[in-house]
Amino acid sequence: MAFGFFNKIKEGLEKTRKSFVKNVETVIIGYAEIDDDFLDDLEAVMLTSDLGPKTTEYLMKEIRRGVTEGIINNTGDVMPFMEDRSTEMLVDQEDEITLHHPEVILVVGVNGVGKTTTIAKLANYYTKEGKKVIIAAGDTFRAAAADQLSIWADRVGVPIVKHKEGADPAAVVYDADLVIVDTAGRLHTKVNLMEELKKMGRVANNHVEGAPHQTLLVLDGTTGQNAVSQAKLFGQAVPVNGIVVTKLDGTAKGGVVISIKEELGVPVRWIGVGEGMDDLRPFNAKEFANALFNKGMIQGDK
Ligand code: GDP
Ligand code: MG
Repeated sequence: MAFGFFNKIKEGLEKTRKSFVKNVETVIIGYAEIDDDFLDDLEAVMLTSDLGPKTTEYLMKEIRRGVTEGIINNTGDVMPFMEDRSTEMLVDQEDEITLHHPEVILVVGVNGVGKTTTIAKLANYYTKEGKKVIIAAGDTFRAAAADQLSIWADRVGVPIVKHKEGADPAAVVYDADLVIVDTAGRLHTKVNLMEELKKMGRVANNHVEGAPHQTLLVLDGTTGQNAVSQAKLFGQAVPVNGIVVTKLDGTAKGGVVISIKEELGVPVRWIGVGEGMDDLRPFNAKEFANALFNKGMIQGDK
């Protein structure tokens, strides 16, 4: 792993680390021993750090168990214990994917969360892996959306197919390893969106058997636990099987990543840590936990 690669994630999670880890440390420093007040304060910190109710409840249960079983003997043991449990929760959601040929990925999410940017970053990532990528513009409502996608496609150097151009996309599609489809994100009414996304799925399926193979839901990390609520609504409309959390660089609410699998039953597959083309990373549990808890993975790394 390159030096800069991990640093970027660490840098991206800085705000989250500063608020979450610091707040936990403050509680730990404030108490000489573990008592009910200590545990209450700890719980409050978790709840305000966008870990969400389920994850907080789970971690608190684990911490109480740790105390009973003598794994946690003083307040100083709490942080490493939380780190272990959080890492386990994150590892639990890791998921290897075998790509079909071609693999069709539908990218969904409400406007502004970072869908189009994520598609460009994905195209860039897979192109660098030597894959033939095609971007498909499914967001036919807004000309501006298709234009934005074209600009990105040019920048990454991948072809783009636009549904409206009349040409049969099938030929191009079969030539590709990967087809990434942008979709409209207007959450007008749930029924509308559901119908539109279902239609997109059918169109994909007409061209490629079994498509879409992945439906990635993009969530804006800066919205913390609200992103989880949004995901639940989306999950009712389309079968989502992977989550992308964007904009982790601009927020202290990155703790939300820990809670996603627990809350939604869907794994986080990618995280966005910046606006640049290389700022989307495949989700790696250990790396994420290390970045979050400020552990140097690389020698000499602060
Ligand atoms: P869409 O409406 O869902 O397609 O969203 P866009 O892809 O157009 O992105 C909306 C804004 O979010 C743009 O200004 C992006 O540069 C920005 N953005 C997307 N991902 C990230 C990220 O990981 N970090 C930061 N800082 N900004 C991001
Ligand atoms: Mg868009």
